Amino acid sequence: ALFGPGRRNSGGLDLTSALVLADLDLALAAASTFERAVPVIGGEEKGDGTASPVLDPADHRRVVGEVVEASPAEVEAALTAAGAAFPPWDDLGGEKRAEILDEAAGRLEAERARFMALAIREAGKTIPDALAEVREAIDFLRFYAAEARSRFAGPVRLPGPVGESNELMLGGRGVFACISPWNFPLAIFMGQVAAALAAGNTVVAKPAPQTPLMAAAAVRLLHAAGVPPQALHLLPGGPFVGEALASSPLVDGIAFTGSTATARHINRLRAAMDGPLGPLIAETGGLNAMIVDSSALPEQVVGDCLESAFRSAGQRCSALRIAFIQREAWSRIEPLLKGAMAELSLGDPALLSTDVGPVIDEGARQRLLAHGGRLRHAGRAIAQAPMPAACRVGTFFAPMAYQLENLDLLRSEVFGPILHVVPWEAGHLDKVLDAVAATAYGLTLGIHSRIDATIAQVVARARIGNIYVNRTMIGAVVGSQPFGGLGLSGTGAKAGGPNTLIRYGVERCLSVNT
Ligand code: GLU
Repeated sequence: ALFGPGRRNSGGLDLTSALVLADLDLALAAASTFERAVPVIGGEEKGDGTASPVLDPADHRRVVGEVVEASPAEVEAALTAAGAAFPPWDDLGGEKRAEILDEAAGRLEAERARFMALAIREAGKTIPDALAEVREAIDFLRFYAAEARSRFAGPVRLPGPVGESNELMLGGRGVFACISPWNFPLAIFMGQVAAALAAGNTVVAKPAPQTPLMAAAAVRLLHAAGVPPQALHLLPGGPFVGEALASSPLVDGIAFTGSTATARHINRLRAAMDGPLGPLIAETGGLNAMIVDSSALPEQVVGDCLESAFRSAGQRCSALRIAFIQREAWSRIEPLLKGAMAELSLGDPALLSTDVGPVIDEGARQRLLAHGGRLRHAGRAIAQAPMPAACRVGTFFAPMAYQLENLDLLRSEVFGPILHVVPWEAGHLDKVLDAVAATAYGLTLGIHSRIDATIAQVVARARIGNIYVNRTMIGAVVGSQPFGGLGLSGTGAKAGGPNTLIRYGVERCLSVNT
């Protein structure tokens, strides 16, 4: 079977069905009543700190819920409880842990509409993005359950001389700190937590400050599915919580998705403390390129560029940032791109007609505006999607495309719907590949070409974690396209791949003279 024995990725929903949409409307109405995210330690909700509102990025007048940040004492309490709960959870074995994660997947599938509504209101996701988000979370749960079953079920026997028995035992490391981003508030949150739990670790999870509500709902669901309350704790909060986790000797490993700069900061904090030398599994940013030659099909290039650069308002690590387009192809592609961008619909993510929702917050919008200002001096404007007046109530940024002749302005990731087009001359593919390598990132790369030798040359040269040929370059599928980059883009292990779980675990070898 495509996804291995006994496992299938989750199905979609028919978004043209009136029933499905009515269900979502109900959930959306419920999501605008109050949600709460508070520190959850040993299953108990702690609510001592001051609550702050969580606002809908598409409409700041709408309060989606409130959040109470964890205190230093709560961080310590969560870590101590997680440490005590590690041995029994690890001893439970891969099969039993898998059953619990499968149960969680089933419950999430049954509650798709509610979680989609939260993704729409709290994170500004469009309906198709919200659906993809929930499906990916379900898939992570089932995928890591299957991996735990097959790899963490019991000791592996290894050869040896007569009179000696050797076995390799896989198990958890101890306490994992899972630090997740707001751009996939459910999928990446669940992916990290499920991987850590599946391998036998207990978990202290710190969601992004922008999206604590989704994480709180996910933790409630995991506990209800059978994850012991002492094995999974939630610590909402800002950098203080992350720093406390990164510098704690009670943490045995960290899974982090976010910026390259924060990953470095975590590394420094780990180096400065006297605790265990556990791993940092970091998935960070990218300055992802698409290379287009003159044999590419212009309509397909435009469709895939729009989807890769502007879907999710460009707020994916995998998103296209720089399209290197061979100059003669660019003259055919530019008018099509302009026309298509004029048609993009920016607005309320809860409407099916919306292509692009808001960016996550005012800070994100300001950073994009500042970059747009620099582009106005250094580049040539190609197009910007129209911004309806109604967008004033939220943090919207209209997708834009600029033509540049070099990458001087692009030293680090620009996280949002800005596409940079850099034309290249026939015969100079090497220079394009040099420029891609010089970014020092290595997350995703797109290629549009009908020439096998060109594709092979690019693939051979590019030190990139995920390469996509003649298609979009976002939306890696759990189990089919293990996701994660090289260089400044991350440490591995990739998410959702056959080699992920081992990086969350430890190996112990037992050799007995019989
Ligand atoms: N896995 C997502 C994708 O393939 C991106 C994850 C991220 O942005 O961190 O589009």
